[in-house]
Amino acid sequence: MMAGQNANILIIGCGIAGIGAAQRLIRHGFNNVRVLEATSRSGGRIKTGSLGSNIVEIGANWIHGPSQENPVFRLACQYQLLDKESMSEENQAVEVGGHPPFIPNWFSSSGRKLDSEMMAPASELFMTLFEKCQEFHDSGEEPLPTVGEYFKREALKVANEEWNEDQTTKKLRLAYLGTLLKVECCVSGTHTMDDVGLGAFGMYKTLPGLDCTFPGGYEGLIKHMMNELPKDTVLYNKPVKCIHWNNTYKQSSQKGRTCPVTVECISGETFDADHVIVTIPLGYLKKHQHTLLQPSMPLRKLHSIQRMGFGTNNKIFLEFEMPFWDEDCEAIYLVWEDESALADIVSDVKMAWVRKLFGFTVLKPAETFGHVLCGWIAGHESEYMETLTELEVLNTITQVIRRFTGNATIAPKKLLRSQWFLDPYTCGSYTYVAKGCSDFDIDNLAEPLPLPGSKDQPLQVMFAGEATHRSFFSTVHGALITGWREADRLLSHYTTPAGLVTSKL
Ligand SMILES: Cc1cc2nc3c(=O)[nH]c(=O)nc-3n(C[C@H](O)[C@H](O)[C@H](O)COP(=O)(O)OP(=O)(O)OC[C@H]3O[C@@H](n4cnc5c(N)ncnc54)[C@H](O)[C@@H]3O)c2cc1C
Repeated sequence: MMAGQNANILIIGCGIAGIGAAQRLIRHGFNNVRVLEATSRSGGRIKTGSLGSNIVEIGANWIHGPSQENPVFRLACQYQLLDKESMSEENQAVEVGGHPPFIPNWFSSSGRKLDSEMMAPASELFMTLFEKCQEFHDSGEEPLPTVGEYFKREALKVANEEWNEDQTTKKLRLAYLGTLLKVECCVSGTHTMDDVGLGAFGMYKTLPGLDCTFPGGYEGLIKHMMNELPKDTVLYNKPVKCIHWNNTYKQSSQKGRTCPVTVECISGETFDADHVIVTIPLGYLKKHQHTLLQPSMPLRKLHSIQRMGFGTNNKIFLEFEMPFWDEDCEAIYLVWEDESALADIVSDVKMAWVRKLFGFTVLKPAETFGHVLCGWIAGHESEYMETLTELEVLNTITQVIRRFTGNATIAPKKLLRSQWFLDPYTCGSYTYVAKGCSDFDIDNLAEPLPLPGSKDQPLQVMFAGEATHRSFFSTVHGALITGWREADRLLSHYTTPAGLVTSKL
């Protein structure tokens, strides 16, 4: 009889979830673990690029909540990838509730710089309402179906009751609240906050710690983790087309030992397995839900894949000769003076996609980066931006910056943008809880096949990746924890009460 260590395990996808699962299994003595990756690189949505001599993050940017409970933080400390300040006790203790307090500059569409005294009540109202939105999950109430609808109703109530002393100021504050809704679309990775479920919004949990970055690039984490895997664990350029489970692929029984699962790549190449851990992004699952598994997924998993949200958030990096923002500025907000209806979508995407760009974060420190801004844009407008040439994007954004600063000579030197929607193996950026979603949808996504109660060989197809974490979906730490979770599921499947990894095959 074969020992559990020899179980044939295939992991699909070499992002942090896949790498984490492989590392854990191999460390615990499983010696037949391979990762099939569609592309020629590891890291998935952790992707560090360069703009001139600067490194820039095309994908994940921050460790959200860098403190001891966050496994990405612990690994980054272990590999010595963070600066002293990020590792300090003080930094770990800061509670920001997911909204780091950036020092802002505001520019309006009439070419004016707006002052903080005028904008502060809008920022405060925004924070108060979002904190309220986060509470509905635990309280079980849902006064309206979506975050967007609730936010608009409550914000307009306050604006109409309390901001009436000066109509120009009121309009500007409302326009800024619209900009903050666009920020939230980027944070949530959604087209509009009208798509995000109010009752489910609070499923996302934050950890203590002021978000920090990797001075040498996020991919340093991937490199260190990859170094701990035996050479040739990962097979690159192997896009998987179909996972045939429950002994449905004829070929599997023709070989020496019968494996219940056969993974078929687009090239036609096949791999047999006892267990497959799927870490493919939800965006890809949505697109290929009816063909990726054979037999097809159970209805409850299919419905949850359809119900859960997966949207687009892109970055547009711009390098400048000289800054047009204040020295201490960390975020620039663009306020369109003709937008006071709290709309976070653009009616004519082709003509006005750039209105969805909420503004920029400033890459710090300037001694390292020079003068580089990162623009953020979510939703269908972002997806449309991906189809334009770099020059078209550069020209449009240059016009906007000139208009908002009133300086017709500003000209960014270089541009680099992400294109996550067009990426065929991601199909967007990350998961959000759409209108009508609940914790059960994430549980359904994570549930292994065959479903409990079946007499077929258990744990044939398992699911990890950021979309399968109940409270840390959309993050790197969420993804890593799910990779470990599925590795642990196999470990306990093969472990006797005496702690030995044994045969269940
Ligand atoms: C713009 C952007 C900014 C972000 N910012 C942050 C941030 O600041 N902080 C944070 O914590 N998180 C952030 N995230 C989210 C974070 O990057 C992801 O949650 C995390 O990296 C997901 O890891 P994963 O292993 O689940 O998936 P992925 O990293 O996407 O890995 C999945 C892998 O599966 C492969 N694959 C797909 N289809 C197939 C197939 N058919 N066959 C074989 N392989 C396949 C893919 O190529 C990929 O390598 C950001 C994401 C984006 C896009």
